[in-house]
Amino acid sequence: MNQKTFHLISLGCAKNTVDSDSMAQLLEREGYRAVGAPQQASVMIVNTCGFIGSARDESYSELRTLAESKHPGQLLIATGCLTQRYGLEVARQVPGVDGILGTRRWMDIVGLVRELRKSPHPEPLYHLPDAPSIGTDEKGTLRASVAGASAYLKIADGCRRPCAFCAIPLIKGTMVSRPLDTILNEAQRLHEMGVRELVLIAQDTTDYGHDLGMKNGLATLLENITTVVPEMDWLRIMYAFPGYVTDRLIEVMAAHSQVLPYLDIPLQHANPNILRRMVRPANIDWVHTTIAKMRSALPKLAIRTTFIVGYPGETEKEFQTLLDFMQELRFDRVGAFQFSFEPGTTSEPLGDPVPAEVKEQRLERLMELQQSISLQINQSYVGQTLDVLVEGQDNGIAIGRSYRDAPEIDGMVFIESNGLKKPAELPAIGSLVPVKITGAMTYDLTGVPAR
Ligand code: SF4
Repeated sequence: MNQKTFHLISLGCAKNTVDSDSMAQLLEREGYRAVGAPQQASVMIVNTCGFIGSARDESYSELRTLAESKHPGQLLIATGCLTQRYGLEVARQVPGVDGILGTRRWMDIVGLVRELRKSPHPEPLYHLPDAPSIGTDEKGTLRASVAGASAYLKIADGCRRPCAFCAIPLIKGTMVSRPLDTILNEAQRLHEMGVRELVLIAQDTTDYGHDLGMKNGLATLLENITTVVPEMDWLRIMYAFPGYVTDRLIEVMAAHSQVLPYLDIPLQHANPNILRRMVRPANIDWVHTTIAKMRSALPKLAIRTTFIVGYPGETEKEFQTLLDFMQELRFDRVGAFQFSFEPGTTSEPLGDPVPAEVKEQRLERLMELQQSISLQINQSYVGQTLDVLVEGQDNGIAIGRSYRDAPEIDGMVFIESNGLKKPAELPAIGSLVPVKITGAMTYDLTGVPAR
């Protein structure tokens, strides 16, 4: 087996994907080569997720599978959020793990591999320095993850919000913004690499720049990107925090066509009592007012949000408030989760009193409502023409996303070659083409190339 090969499995969110790509860049710089299968690699790495129960289970199962199939001389390293949060426990749970690296020091991956290679280690090697937050010594890596013509670009990491149910501040530490110039350089590099869509990510993008002394940092960043890379077709904002979508940000979104009329803003609930118990902004009037302001400034606006059902103490009446709220505001895209009991968070003393079957029923009812809303909204696009970023072709059909679809989590647009003679006329992968919408499904749309 070639000693300088690695196989990296990336679990969890887009922010973890960027860390995985950055670790891969550092290993490649060290002369390592990525291989497609774990058994071919001298170093196997799992970049874990650890923020809720189901994600932890998936991370442990991935690690166990690799540990059980490990060859002599192969190294298995666990990195990411699970290791940052549980450290030694991970090695106890998965015998066969050789190295443990926390998410705050992803940039030390090469040092850990070197250390592990130096001599056999009967015990796992831990690299969990007591870093207060995410390291800023990024070693010149491109803090982005490119998939075709689209790229996640990390603008910050960590979080200073006090949401009671969330373990992310425990894992990542407080919010650290990346320098503005660095992000602008990366946006330019990504454009030169053929990227057409930049998806801006952080735990809370609306908090960008506060630690750099910036006011309205996200609006300023967007304006700078539109100036420095005017050719970048799409700029997409993910993970906005309620209460921090400012008039300035709305102005910038309305003034620059590159900035998509799309906003991902996890609201988590709509009942003020629940929101207060979640230690989240509970001013629902602000949500109504701000969404109305955005919809008037951005008539085509698509909104994505996220809700939690079954939060401790959630009554049927409080849950009904959420359904009524969804019915009234009609979001384009909704992600929903059952409350996950998280030891160490400030919600821990509340326990997990809502029975599992009630949580499941509420999740089902919420998604049923959202499916009917989503279908109705999708049907309103039939007959319209939308620009679509083409990401694949299969069986005479091209597949892509419109401005209403963030990568991996929203819908798709299926472009059929109806009326076209040769499949070759299907739009090319990576192209941004106008598509006449001919059909609507619950989450996806169908269409034909607009002539
Ligand atoms: S904003 Fe709240 S939910 Fe989001 S990462 Fe921060 S603490 Fe967690």
